[in-house]
Amino acid sequence: VKKKASKYQKQAQPVEQTAVLGAGIMGGGIAYQSASKGTPIVMKDIKDDAIELGLKEARKLFAKQVERKKLTTEQMAEKLTNIRPTLSYGDFGNVDLVVEAVVENPKVKDAVLTEVEGMVSENTILTSNTSTISINRLAQNLKRPENFCGMHFFNPVHRMPLVEVIRGEKTSDAAVAATVAYARAMGKTPIVVNDCPGFLVNRVLFPYFGGFSFLVEQGADFQHVDKVMEKFGWPMGPAYLLDVVGLDTAVHANEVMAEGFPDRMARDGKTAIQVMYDNDRLGQKNDKGFYAYE
Ligand code: NAD
Repeated sequence: VKKKASKYQKQAQPVEQTAVLGAGIMGGGIAYQSASKGTPIVMKDIKDDAIELGLKEARKLFAKQVERKKLTTEQMAEKLTNIRPTLSYGDFGNVDLVVEAVVENPKVKDAVLTEVEGMVSENTILTSNTSTISINRLAQNLKRPENFCGMHFFNPVHRMPLVEVIRGEKTSDAAVAATVAYARAMGKTPIVVNDCPGFLVNRVLFPYFGGFSFLVEQGADFQHVDKVMEKFGWPMGPAYLLDVVGLDTAVHANEVMAEGFPDRMARDGKTAIQVMYDNDRLGQKNDKGFYAYE
């Protein structure tokens, strides 16, 4: 895989100005990571409070670096200026690469990608941080599908080294190369994978969540399952991980997986994960999921 990534890196056009659409858990994390490694990033959302939350999270992460004496307060202030929060597409004309990180809903993503394609230059690379939606499907409505691929970060962005770069049928080598190069500039380890529901990591992770949900529905104590999986060697158990991921994101992602692999992923009736979502227990994003947060 390493070999493949460096092959792509050789053909990369420079990625100097970037943008992220969505200032949520992932968008905020992507903005922080890009800013921290020195690539300016415009962070666009449709809600003021989302922008505020994204910036707050970035400030918190930079402040930790200052506490650990890895940054001075001056360096922190300078790095923060790399994040340019906005509610408009005003600055998008000069952007080399965009990461779309809005909600995991194909219709919303279609609308946002079509909209942003009209705001950027012909050479701008568009990428999506979708967890599960097919890149070929998202490319369908685009005028320049060759400039589009997946750029799938993991949560929390600043800690998780892997980035899946997903190549659609029409994605050009140049788009893959630029995306691989940007992932590396952000200090990440990119792997280039083909398009399928869930790509590589979530194709493995979501059946695991499904197994967890099934256990809970059969009466297992979720905290006990978490403890067992931690003892097994995972850094956190499935319930806690679902709270980190967001129950809404997990439900939407699972729907896409079930559509793609109906025989393996579709279930009759409501799963424990769906019940949590129906009861507005979204995880850490609204302070209540399997666990309660302060
Ligand atoms: P989130 O709900 O925390 O954030 C989504 C943000 O998008 C919100 O702030 C919302 O206001 C904004 N938004 C909605 N419509 C918009 C528009 N038209 N323009 C700009 N902003 C808009 O969601 P998230 O967890 O950050 O997930 C974002 C994407 O990243 C999803 O595709 C998800 O599948 C993917 N992802 C999530 C995780 C995870 O663990 N949460 C991990 C990897 C990938």
